[in-house]
Amino acid sequence: MKLLFATQNKNKVDEINRLIGSQHELITLADLNYDLELEESTMLLEENALEKANHIYQEFNMNCFSEDTGLEVEALNGAPGALSARYAGEEKDAEDNMAKVLAEMNNLTNRNAQFRTVIALVIDGKEFLYEGIIKGIITNKKRGANGFGYDPIFQPDGFTKTFAEMTADEKSAISHRARAFAKMKEFLESEFAE
Ligand code: IMP
Repeated sequence: MKLLFATQNKNKVDEINRLIGSQHELITLADLNYDLELEESTMLLEENALEKANHIYQEFNMNCFSEDTGLEVEALNGAPGALSARYAGEEKDAEDNMAKVLAEMNNLTNRNAQFRTVIALVIDGKEFLYEGIIKGIITNKKRGANGFGYDPIFQPDGFTKTFAEMTADEKSAISHRARAFAKMKEFLESEFAE
């Protein structure tokens, strides 16, 4: 099945391309020469993912999915959450965002956090949602240079590396995004098996 991924985030496209498999074909907004930023106007990952997917479904009349991801830190009452991208300001700077989280968590012993991804799929105008979560801790300092966003300060439970110290395949084996995507893929393969 041809599926349009409604995102302008190249890192997310790369991660989904590793997971999509040969039964589906990923189309990107870049393939369609669409370079406008997609709006995320609410405080809920679910609403934001639906907003982006519906917008692009209407624009191109093509089955599509979008996703919204948040880093949810227990000691910060779930922040940055849906505000993750612009936590330290409208520039959406990953370094500034990580610095803000580390500063707010200075001396805190509860370092529990999770990444949560919500994928919204729009097929023939019908909406479906899939959630993926990975639990872990916020490290005391940045470690690693791979990945993107908050990866250098997130260490998944059961591992000694941060996401940014893992290879792309290691991250994709366990990540929030991979877990949500696996649920969507299972749905597509059960509903649209030939
Ligand atoms: P959004 O889903 O594009 O709104 O991303 C929210 C924020 O979380 C952005 O700052 C992203 O860089 C960050 N983010 C999203 N996915 C990941 C991830 O897999 N690892 C680390 N940071 C991420």
